[in-house]
Amino acid sequence: MKIQMVDLKGQYQKIKSEIDAEISKVIDQTAFINGSQVKEFSKNLANYLGVKYVIPCGNGTDALQIALMSLGLERGDEIILPAFTYIATAEVVALLGLTPVLVDVFDDSFNICPEQVEKVITSKTKAIVPVHLFGQSADMEALTAIAKKHNLRIIEDNAQAIGAEYTFSDKSSKKTGTIGDIGCTSFFPSKNLGCYGDGGAIFTNDDQLGQKIQMIANHGQNKKYYHKYIGVNSRLDSIQAAILNVKLKYLDTYSQARQKAAMYYSENLSEISEIKTPVVSEFSTHVFHQYTLKIADNRRDDLKKHLNDSGIPANIYYPMPLNKQEAFANLAKSPLNLTTTNNLCNSVLSLPMHTELSKEQQDFIINSIKNFF
Ligand SMILES: *Cc1c(COP(=O)(O)O)cnc(C)c1O
Repeated sequence: MKIQMVDLKGQYQKIKSEIDAEISKVIDQTAFINGSQVKEFSKNLANYLGVKYVIPCGNGTDALQIALMSLGLERGDEIILPAFTYIATAEVVALLGLTPVLVDVFDDSFNICPEQVEKVITSKTKAIVPVHLFGQSADMEALTAIAKKHNLRIIEDNAQAIGAEYTFSDKSSKKTGTIGDIGCTSFFPSKNLGCYGDGGAIFTNDDQLGQKIQMIANHGQNKKYYHKYIGVNSRLDSIQAAILNVKLKYLDTYSQARQKAAMYYSENLSEISEIKTPVVSEFSTHVFHQYTLKIADNRRDDLKKHLNDSGIPANIYYPMPLNKQEAFANLAKSPLNLTTTNNLCNSVLSLPMHTELSKEQQDFIINSIKNFF
């Protein structure tokens, strides 16, 4: 049985005629950059998310960098973010001469711990970058309260959670990425809303930030050859926007397929005492960018090998926390213990998760895990 971590081909085959027609249209029009599809996608995604500005850009890492650039920060300003995340979240902070301050995450949700955030705030702290890791929201209500109290900005790294919904204690709800000052996402092919190359976007409801972000992504100009800011050149090209316009229509269906697959895994794996299945926080839906188990007794690496040997891909996100990365040795600060993060890097294992996963494939994976224990 052939099992992939992500089945991009199977997904494409189901929408091939629509996708191919839209790609052809772009090529016929030869408006490869800033074609009508880009504006259309930005409008469609803004409607879907319920946010005022969606500024498409080249990739998710650019989105984070541009978001930080829009805040008018100074060298040495501190940005608080989780130690358990993908490198991009912290990399752009360091690249801009800012200091990443790493804090721990919760053992159950894998998301940033607000109590720790509040403890590491100094007079240099300017922003918090929560990451909605693996597909569910961080505790945005607690983080928003801290940001308000200390006059900090919030940039949400929503690269893994597009389509997830956060519910506040007053029962109102918002899509992740639209709660803080700025939200960032990636359309990397394997992300929940993926294009067929690189892509990303920045969201905000703030008029000033929206206009400034638009300019920074386009060489700091809004009138050609008149540059107000030092910016970057970061664009979503028209072919990618055309593909995303088709795929956005299916995003909720895709999320449901992931949720269904996740539920099936959990129903069958939770009885194994060495395994902890993913926990869904009461304030957020989970769109399962990853389905991530915790494996007890240092048996994670052996289980991974057992699965890989049976032709089942299973990956470790992430094997090394940011606080142990060589690149950050002299650049990042971690004032508090990062016990949970360090433990998670030794115990997490993500199983194949995508929109095309069949029950037969899942049964094969589940049986292989049961055989191991
Ligand atoms: C994928 C990802 C990014 C970066 O997106 P790219 O499009 O690959 O640049 C940033 N943060 C997180 C949490 C991600 O998963």
